[in-house]
Amino acid sequence: MEREGFTDVVGPCSAQLDLRERRAVLDWFASTRPDVVVLAAARVGGIKANAARPTEFLSDNLRIQVNVLDAALEHGVERLLFLGSSCVYPKFADQPIREEALLTGALEPTNDAYAIAKIAGLLHVQAVRRQHGLPWISAMPTNLYGPGDNFHPEHSHVLASLIRRFHEARTAGARRVVNWGTGTPRREFLHVDDLARACLYLLEHYDADGSVNVGTGTDLTIREAAELVAEVVGYQGAVEWDAAQPDGTPRKVLDISRITTLGWAPRIGLREGIAEAYAWYVEHRASAAL
Ligand code: GDP
Repeated sequence: MEREGFTDVVGPCSAQLDLRERRAVLDWFASTRPDVVVLAAARVGGIKANAARPTEFLSDNLRIQVNVLDAALEHGVERLLFLGSSCVYPKFADQPIREEALLTGALEPTNDAYAIAKIAGLLHVQAVRRQHGLPWISAMPTNLYGPGDNFHPEHSHVLASLIRRFHEARTAGARRVVNWGTGTPRREFLHVDDLARACLYLLEHYDADGSVNVGTGTDLTIREAAELVAEVVGYQGAVEWDAAQPDGTPRKVLDISRITTLGWAPRIGLREGIAEAYAWYVEHRASAAL
């Protein structure tokens, strides 16, 4: 936003403002009085983090959303964008997934707690639109990656995990790595800077009840993604798969025709984006490894 010329952008981190604390959130809104709010904050994690800690993924995300959305309403925030997630859609939704698929079937069990919290947030935004007439909107991003990602070996999402695993294998001279699952699920990946541009674009061009998918509209298998990461990192050893680890949903590629019809399109190709994420990881390894 600052690159686009906005001069008064505030974004307290969780150490400065714990969004789970209702009083702190209400006080922050009373003293800061933002005109526009983008609610991107959430407790997030990869497939294992979600499956291991469903209680926190449900409770923390519900509290973050209810506190921020209530405070924004109380202080008359005119424009608000809430970020959902592509995992809110049914496990076996028709592919590519259209926005209308929401609430038409059962969820993927490895991240249902997170998905239910996000669905509550989407409904909360719609409720405010209907009851209070405010132009609040929601966007549904696909799997994200890029600089600043979480590279924790157990809790991260797949691209960050693979970047770290292949980097460590290459530098240690290891001859084999083992990834999770079968490698056959398909995933779509969006660079975080493309999502940031989409958020701004929607705030400037969209005002309707339905949420808007944000992705690239194309996917690949986890095995293909791993080959790409290995190439970028320069790892040349063997790649094995541990089928005892969870695969998650078989496929979740988004139909992005709603946002492309509005005039937005992704710009950052996957290879280029992975190279950028990898460069960031190497530079910030000491802290990113935490
Ligand atoms: P999901 O899209 O919600 O399932 O979340 P992830 O990004 O965590 O996982 C995507 C897919 O990558 C799943 O099929 C995993 O089994 C697979 N995968 C393979 N290796 C890894 C790994 O090291 N970490 C993670 N998070 N996923 C992995």
